[in-house]
Amino acid sequence: MLSMSATLPSPSQEIDDPLLSRAGVSLWLKRDDLIHPLVPGNKWRKLLPNLRAARAAGHRRLLTFGGAYSHHLTAVAAAAAATGFDSVGLVRGDELATAPRNPALARAERDGMRLEFLSRAAYRETLRALDEPATRGRLAERFGAAHVLPEGGSNALAARGAAEIVDELAAQHPGGLGPRDLVCCPVGSGGTLAGIAAALPPGAHALGVAVLRGAAGYLESEVAALHRAGWGREFPRWTIDHDHHGGGYGRIPPELADFTDDFERTHGIRLERRYVAKTLRCLYERTARGRFPRGTRLTAVVTGPPTDVD
Ligand SMILES: *Cc1c(COP(=O)(O)O)cnc(C)c1O
Repeated sequence: MLSMSATLPSPSQEIDDPLLSRAGVSLWLKRDDLIHPLVPGNKWRKLLPNLRAARAAGHRRLLTFGGAYSHHLTAVAAAAAATGFDSVGLVRGDELATAPRNPALARAERDGMRLEFLSRAAYRETLRALDEPATRGRLAERFGAAHVLPEGGSNALAARGAAEIVDELAAQHPGGLGPRDLVCCPVGSGGTLAGIAAALPPGAHALGVAVLRGAAGYLESEVAALHRAGWGREFPRWTIDHDHHGGGYGRIPPELADFTDDFERTHGIRLERRYVAKTLRCLYERTARGRFPRGTRLTAVVTGPPTDVD
């Protein structure tokens, strides 16, 4: 089983940086990028509870959704291959069916994932109606019975898996977690932030950094829906920053590339850029603008390792 080779709890390390200490702020990295070589970061946290549920329900196949560069698709393919599940990936964009595979899709296919390419309209419609019995029936008819994961893999089980980040931090941080703590993570589909926000002890806050453009309102409602689905209630004390997406998903503007190069040189840690670098840049910028009270302890969850495109 995958869990035998996982590094848990993931390490937590303090980053020593005069830019931050001048503002009276400390920064810790929660190194979820080191959890597992095949299924790293938050993909591990989110998929493991789903693999267990799929197995308990007697499923032999995972079915999920993603865009052409989805880390989630490749993670599901790798996790399925390592645990003996079949996997099916429904990919947004039927024009990709005949194009040469990009590295992410090529890797998913090498891991045995069956890729099916949907038109953007069909993809959107399938996801919109994913929980309706008619949609499930059509999917089962076409691909066989499967444990179905939504786009990005954020369901209630995934959010509950991500909540364990907070349990680990509470044990790792000197003094536990409390009112001076702000736990930060990127937001793609929101499962990671939902889990963190739900698990925080009284007084501590969570900050998510949206990596999608134009997602204000939408991502907040996704996180609140995950809270209702996973915990039967909503939670206070979390917010999403919508000013550090860098122009949209997968966009790495020159200022972000410069910031990332600098951070990597100074601290000797390579960063994943679509999510992790955007989150750290947000924290540095907010610190420079005096947005955090002195004494704040920031923890950035490093939700994944650098990939081929970093
Ligand atoms: C997939 C991914 C995310 C997105 O997490 P959500 O739970 O979907 O918000 C964040 N960071 C990295 C590195 C990822 O690969």
